[in-house]
Parts: sequence; C-alpha cells; structure tokens
Amino acid sequence: MSIKLPELPYAQDALEPHITANTLSFHYGKHHNAYVTNLNKLIEGTDFAENSLEEIIQKSDAGIFNNAAQIWNHTFYWNSMKPSGGGQPEGELAEKISADFGGFDKFKEEFAAAAATQFGSGWAWLVLEGDSLKIVKTANAETPLTKGQAPLLTIDVWEHAYYLDFQNRRPDYIATFIDSLANWDFAAENYKNARAS
Ligand code: MN
Repeated sequence: MSIKLPELPYAQDALEPHITANTLSFHYGKHHNAYVTNLNKLIEGTDFAENSLEEIIQKSDAGIFNNAAQIWNHTFYWNSMKPSGGGQPEGELAEKISADFGGFDKFKEEFAAAAATQFGSGWAWLVLEGDSLKIVKTANAETPLTKGQAPLLTIDVWEHAYYLDFQNRRPDYIATFIDSLANWDFAAENYKNARAS
C-alpha cells in the first residue's frame, strides 16, 4: 500500500486574492507532493508499508515521522481553509469558544499570537483536549495527533506557506487566514466528531 497525495479540496486559484495559485502550485504541488514521494521511498519494504498514514504517524520517528506527519498536517491545513472563509463559527463550537476563550475576539487574539510566535517552522492549532478547547503550536512536523489532542483547525506558519504572497509579513498572512480563509464548517465537524469519539 502506498500513501497517496490527496486532492486539494478546491482549485489552485480558489483562495485568490489571499493565497495565490502560485503559492499553492509550490506548496501543494511541490512541498506536499514531495513529502508523499519521500515517505513512500522510506517505507518501501518495511513494516510501515502496510500501515495507514495515521498508524505510521503514531509509530514512527525521524524521517518517516517527519514526512508522514507533514502529509497529514498539510491535508488538514487545506481543509482548514475555504474560498470566502473567515467569519465566525456557529452553533456548539461558537458557544464552546465563547466559554473557553472568553469570546471569539479573544480566541482570534490568542490564535494569532500563537501563530506569530512559533519560532521558525511549524503550525498553530485549535484543538480539543479532554473537555477543553486549547490553542497550541507545534514545531516543524510535530502534530497534536501524537499528543492526545483532537485537531479542529490549523494554520501552517512555515515560510513556504506565505513567502511568495506575503514575504516576511507573517502577521498579515495570519490575519488573512483568520478573516478571509478559515473554514469554520470543517472545524465544527471536527469538534462534533471529537466529542462523539
Ligand atoms: Mn507547508
């Protein structure tokens, strides 16, 4: 069984003008694709070759973990955005964000701060841990999946995610993600599934 590159959930130009097709052609077409190619080379002929991507992430380390987790993280990130996204969540997730963060504006501040202060490459996440929503950041390929946390939404803050469109202005990219791209339908679905599991 080889690991496949999942299709993008929208066209490469669908997030314009916020994130350009040029960025996605590199980020999805080159970076994400390379993690898949690398992982398949690394697991060929090993016990991992029979495992799902999630199983590989839980059981591996070093190069195999880095490539496997980056495949999963990127697929989750594409789904964390949508054309005409942003706005605010509705329903149960909205109520939970109000209860745990003291309002959506406080959530936005904390999420943006986590994404801005992840030093070097990594990710910021909204997760459910136990009965609490939390904002966490992870370095490089690290993922909440191995930390007993259920991811609800993520932003990639590796420079390759924003440099072509925003150059060094990571805070502008983060604000654009929150205001214009965040897919709250996806986060709400993840919240529902995490509570049910
Ligand atoms: Mn990336």
